Amino acid sequence: MSSSEQRVAIVTGAARGIGAATAIRLATEGRAVAVLDLDEEACRETVEQITEAGGKAVAVGCDVSDAEQVEAAVARVVGELGAPTVLVNNAGVLRDNLLFKMSDADWDAVLNVHLRGAFLMSRACQSHMVEAGFGRIVSLSSSSALGNRGQINYAAAKAGMQGLTKTLAKELGKFGVTANSVAPGFIVTDMTAATAERVGMGFEDFQTAAASQIPVQRVGRPEDVANAIAFFASDAAGFVSGQVMYVAGGPLN
Ligand code: NAP
Repeated sequence: MSSSEQRVAIVTGAARGIGAATAIRLATEGRAVAVLDLDEEACRETVEQITEAGGKAVAVGCDVSDAEQVEAAVARVVGELGAPTVLVNNAGVLRDNLLFKMSDADWDAVLNVHLRGAFLMSRACQSHMVEAGFGRIVSLSSSSALGNRGQINYAAAKAGMQGLTKTLAKELGKFGVTANSVAPGFIVTDMTAATAERVGMGFEDFQTAAASQIPVQRVGRPEDVANAIAFFASDAAGFVSGQVMYVAGGPLN
């Protein structure tokens, strides 16, 4: 048995999209996976896919922006699977609008889920990683971290994820814990489908238009991102920390 087969991973926002693909990918590598999302029932499909393939997973309902729920969820994972030594901060929401129309609530919602959520989850998991002398924290940033019209809240949150990642890397490195960030470009999920709807385009047309601007001439799939996350989460990536990997089919300038 390789050491990674004993690892317990938590993937937030894993009911669907990139989180679900990541949970499934980590499970195929022998990790026991806590599939965490707002609605526990919504996690069932991901859990079933993992267990039907012979893996181990549990569904955990939790709002990552709520400190009490986060503490309770991590305690549950420790009880049901064991101490988490891999954490993927993936949960996310969009509340896009131009600055002059953006409400306080939309700013807070996005900052709370992405940034406060990643902070709370990392804080709740770090003691288990430090105790194990091993940990991998991977947080989802975005190409929007470089700035994107209509996404002042999301761009700020995703740039913040990069600062959070580099700080985690500096604070926790001496305990065997690495922290890295994966920054996807256009990935086909419900999130990009919602953006297509907001801008009044059919999703197929939206994807075709996006693909034409991407050097590899296609849009991304959740599995493309899961592959990058799996590398950072691997035992083999122990000397790679504080990095941001853009997974966008090309450079972003
Ligand atoms: P998605 O399909 O919308 O999935 C996001 C998941 O997060 C949903 O299941 C959602 O639950 C969950 N979630 C939302 N708020 C939560 C909370 N407070 N606590 C726990 N879970 C919560 O999104 P995705 O496209 O897979 O994106 C995953 C991550 O990648 C996000 O951080 C996103 O910003 C980032 N990303 C995506 C793209 C892209 O092109 N898709 C590009 C760059 C970065 P509900 O369904 O109940 O809301």
